[in-house]
Amino acid sequence: MHDVVIVGGGPVGACLGALLAAAGDGTRVAVLEPRAPAALPAAAPLEARVVALSRASERLLRAAGAWAGIDGPRVCAYEHMRIWHESVAADSDAVLSFDAAEAGEPNLGYIVENRLLQGALLQAFAAAGGELLAAGLTSLRSTADEVLLGTSGGELRARLVVGADGAQSAVRTHAGLSATARPYHQTAIVATVATERPHRRTAWQRFMKDGTLAFLPLADGTSSIVWSADEALAARLLAASPAGFAAELDRASDLALGATRLASERGSFVLQRLAAPRYVCQRVALVGDAAHVVHPLAGQGVNLGLLDAAALAQLLTQARTRGEDPGALAVLRAYERWRKSETALMSGAIDAFDRWLAHGSGALAQLVQGGLAVVNRAPELKRFFIRRALGVSGELPRAAR
Ligand SMILES: Cc1cc2nc3c(=O)[nH]c(=O)nc-3n(C[C@H](O)[C@H](O)[C@H](O)COP(=O)(O)OP(=O)(O)OC[C@H]3O[C@@H](n4cnc5c(N)ncnc54)[C@H](O)[C@@H]3O)c2cc1C
Repeated sequence: MHDVVIVGGGPVGACLGALLAAAGDGTRVAVLEPRAPAALPAAAPLEARVVALSRASERLLRAAGAWAGIDGPRVCAYEHMRIWHESVAADSDAVLSFDAAEAGEPNLGYIVENRLLQGALLQAFAAAGGELLAAGLTSLRSTADEVLLGTSGGELRARLVVGADGAQSAVRTHAGLSATARPYHQTAIVATVATERPHRRTAWQRFMKDGTLAFLPLADGTSSIVWSADEALAARLLAASPAGFAAELDRASDLALGATRLASERGSFVLQRLAAPRYVCQRVALVGDAAHVVHPLAGQGVNLGLLDAAALAQLLTQARTRGEDPGALAVLRAYERWRKSETALMSGAIDAFDRWLAHGSGALAQLVQGGLAVVNRAPELKRFFIRRALGVSGELPRAAR
């Protein structure tokens, strides 16, 4: 009998496992992950699939014992952000700029390969005594006292099952928890590009009527792009030759970093917003993308999920100290109340950015788009947004403070 079985060893499930194992209080915890990534060889080229990690995430990755496995030559700390709307030039003073030094911070966050993040967390989990099982969930049945899990590697019993198995969560479906999904009718295209001018540790983002384009600085001087494009544009971009794609990119980036050259394959992700009305039910809890999927334009998906993991780990560790059952509904409800309100707030704000900054037209949209310049001139407002981007506002779990 396990205390906690986590289904899904993506960044969020692996982080929850590592935090619970690091508590060293004897909690018996297993992570089920059928597709754990092979370790990244030090000399391997940087991968295009990256995430921007906030300060809060950095802190809780340290607490999970995973930061040492992440920090190094493959990671780029970014110190500046430039955000603008296509109605103004890339070098105009209407471009919203954030600088770490201005905020008294060493940087604004880190650009990290997904595979490096997940690998370091799984390693930290195993090193702290967690059980990593290379199996997938096939069935789940919860009773008043336990949950019975069918897996491709045999049966398991647990007092609590956590669904960290992503947007198509099998745990969510088996547990009868619903989710509302709404397509954005956009596809995110990711790729690594070489740019004529150096990125100067700057993350760039341009909002346009047919999509949002971000350049994230990488440690080897190239940039990873995330281009969330409307369906018709995305189809054209994916079908274009490498040179044709670079030409489209030059147009869309307004040459902010000079001419570009495609340096990797293009990956694509169909975008949707997803929200589970309930994150918990009898002996089951959902974390990360299994509970909520947000638009990537603000780079918050993993950051929100890692905070879910830290909040649940904190509540479970406290429950253990009090000798309580980890699957007790009171513990799970406290988690749901805490994290649902925080994610709903962020998800709504991200949606509004997409609706008004990127796709909006008319007088109100113009007002919002012009608002970037207003924020740029208002130090208090800027500080508010920097704190949000660093993830250090709201009710933070202890590991993230
Ligand atoms: C283009 C793009 C760019 C993004 N950029 C950022 C960014 O800059 N910053 C940021 O914070 N977020 C970003 N995100 C969001 C981020 O990638 C997701 O929020 C994050 O991957 C969610 O992590 P997770 O662990 O919850 O789920 P996942 O990463 O989906 O992991 C789920 C895991 O569960 C496993 N699994 C699935 N089914 C089963 C099963 N039946 N049994 C066992 N295991 C199972 C899978 O193998 C997988 O490893 C971006 C997303 C996209 C699409």
